[in-house]
Amino acid sequence: CGIVGILGHTDVSARLVDGLSRLEYRGYDSAGIALMNVGGEIAVRRSVGKLAALKAELDAAPVSGKIGIGHTRWATHGGPTERNAHPHRTRNVTLVHNGIVENYAKLRDELEAAGVVFQSETDTEVAAHLLERLLAETHTPPAAFAALLQRLVGSYALAVIFEGYPDLIFAARYGSPLAIGYGPLAEDGTAEMFLGSDALALAPFTDRVCYLEDGDWAVIRTDRVQIFDGTGVEVTREIVTVPEAT
Ligand code: GLU
Repeated sequence: CGIVGILGHTDVSARLVDGLSRLEYRGYDSAGIALMNVGGEIAVRRSVGKLAALKAELDAAPVSGKIGIGHTRWATHGGPTERNAHPHRTRNVTLVHNGIVENYAKLRDELEAAGVVFQSETDTEVAAHLLERLLAETHTPPAAFAALLQRLVGSYALAVIFEGYPDLIFAARYGSPLAIGYGPLAEDGTAEMFLGSDALALAPFTDRVCYLEDGDWAVIRTDRVQIFDGTGVEVTREIVTVPEAT
């Protein structure tokens, strides 16, 4: 239902939850965040119910990192349980998803036949395992991510981090909105970068936003953003200034 992603200069866990709180009005049944530390290791925290429950979970078992993704889930496939909450994680892939993977049953059969063991009943987890397999086949995150999008039928806004890649977030949009937020340029030429399913989620952080178009996918770093269209061609999307929320 709601997605937030941050590539920060400092710890982002509190800001992820803050961003998610701006999306609460959309409704949700569970929430979660994934944080990557400087060594590229990822930790996930999820909980059923309101963000207060996630905050309590984070107080009990804190996580920190300068890169993270967060999600508020409105269950479509699989009940509102912790196992079904996002982020979904495989060995190297951690992702959050809005929308519906329509061909999930076929993909799940294919993956299970290849020995994959699923942890949840969601359509989303199929995308995580498929991406993991494609990563093993193609070896690079951008090639694997592009190949994943070719295989998914349905609607999605996706945010993905890869274990061992502590400087980037992948994003894709098809039928579910997603915007990239550009933070102010720091002295070293880098900028904190943000991702949100709604510019409202980004309002606390920046008002400079670029809306992805259907079929677009992006590799977001603090010093560079690359956006590709559905045919794999690198494109430029306009950065607009959103009016201050009242
Ligand atoms: N279809 C996914 C699920 O049920 C995502 C739902 C959403 O957009 O929150 O987990």
